[in-house]
Amino acid sequence: MKKVETFLRKDRSLVEMKDKEYQQVIIIGGGPAGITAGLTLQSRGISCLIIDSHATNLVKLGECIPPNALPLFKKIGLEKLLYHEEHQFYFGNQSLWGSNEISEKNFLFDKHNKGILLNRSFFETQIKEIAIHNKVKWLNGYSLHTTEKNSEKTKVVVKSKDNTLSFTCDYLIDATGRKASICRKMNVTKETIDQLASISFQFLVEEKIPSFVHTESYENGWIYLAPAKDKRITVMIFTDIDLLPNKENEKEFVKKIINQSQLIRELLGGEIQEERILELKTRIANTTFLRKPYGDNWIAVGDAAYSYDPISSYGITSAIAGGYYGAHALTEAISGKTEAFQVYQYIMENAFNAYTIKLKEQYKQEKRWVKEPFWTRRN
Ligand SMILES: Cc1cc2nc3c(=O)[nH]c(=O)nc-3n(C[C@H](O)[C@H](O)[C@H](O)COP(=O)(O)OP(=O)(O)OC[C@H]3O[C@@H](n4cnc5c(N)ncnc54)[C@H](O)[C@@H]3O)c2cc1C
Repeated sequence: MKKVETFLRKDRSLVEMKDKEYQQVIIIGGGPAGITAGLTLQSRGISCLIIDSHATNLVKLGECIPPNALPLFKKIGLEKLLYHEEHQFYFGNQSLWGSNEISEKNFLFDKHNKGILLNRSFFETQIKEIAIHNKVKWLNGYSLHTTEKNSEKTKVVVKSKDNTLSFTCDYLIDATGRKASICRKMNVTKETIDQLASISFQFLVEEKIPSFVHTESYENGWIYLAPAKDKRITVMIFTDIDLLPNKENEKEFVKKIINQSQLIRELLGGEIQEERILELKTRIANTTFLRKPYGDNWIAVGDAAYSYDPISSYGITSAIAGGYYGAHALTEAISGKTEAFQVYQYIMENAFNAYTIKLKEQYKQEKRWVKEPFWTRRN
């Protein structure tokens, strides 16, 4: 396959779509998975249209690309994007997990000796501009309303605040992230392995954080902290949904967890006060998967098909892999080789199964609070 050309164009205009147009493939969701799928289809001569509900970039969490993911970015032709000055390198992991001692994994002597901490919003712009430059058609600000399969074709209706458009296509790609909107409309349910959620907040640090990713477990979850380009950093606390505090107690909860921590508290400059905790947000971050990530006229890629626990730092990489392999499978299916869908499932399932084994091992390392609900569920 021809590699995609990575080139940022100045003209950010989007292609105008007419009502009732036909596309071979419609991709719902313009995140890493949907865009990679669009680029791959385009490079194989399949006409496609990406539709995303957001007119501007959604603020997404998730920034860490581990060193062993870099070969995939290279293979797909997106590696260059990671070396932009908006992103930064990190050189290892520091964690306080399973004991009171800090452990450190330095990438210095590894084959790929650094990982990347993305400026996520800039990365989303980068990949979107590459898609547009490579002539992938794009419709912003429209959400999926209905899909309906009539004989050979599928009708898709999307809505913006003040407009409705309909399209026909041969295949649909569900790249809507954890929501898996197309699957839901087709009554295809995702399997759920856990109920992990995150509370994230912004914090202004006085000293820059070292270029490591930091994690620390606590009695009912764990905390993530990575450096940022400036002194405004994002801290994420993970726990299960039923262990989250009520809205009005969120700041108190965050303050308590951080102030009882060791490594994270030190990195944040000591005890923190509620008023310094800014922009609190709660998000679901659980592990889910589809038993079968495709059907007659659709395929799911990225988080819509397999969503990863952020402790793995594998969500973006898996989304990109899913978009790439899923779009190749679809191209083969269009030329009559529908067994390609099974190959796609095989590749993605193998990676997902390997991840679930590692995930269990990771959580089982923490024995200090095995009687607490979060750790009981994982031990
Ligand atoms: C707290 C947290 C921390 C994380 N940390 C990391 C990390 O450090 N490293 C990492 O690799 N990953 C991390 N992730 C995961 C990573 O962000 C996701 O795996 C990744 O964004 C998945 O990409 P995607 O393209 O599948 O979905 P998304 O990026 O979620 O994109 C889906 C797109 O679909 C659009 N959409 C949704 N519904 C509709 C609809 N009905 N109609 C039209 N458009 C729709 C949305 O606007 C969105 O743009 C983290 C996730 C969380 C929650």
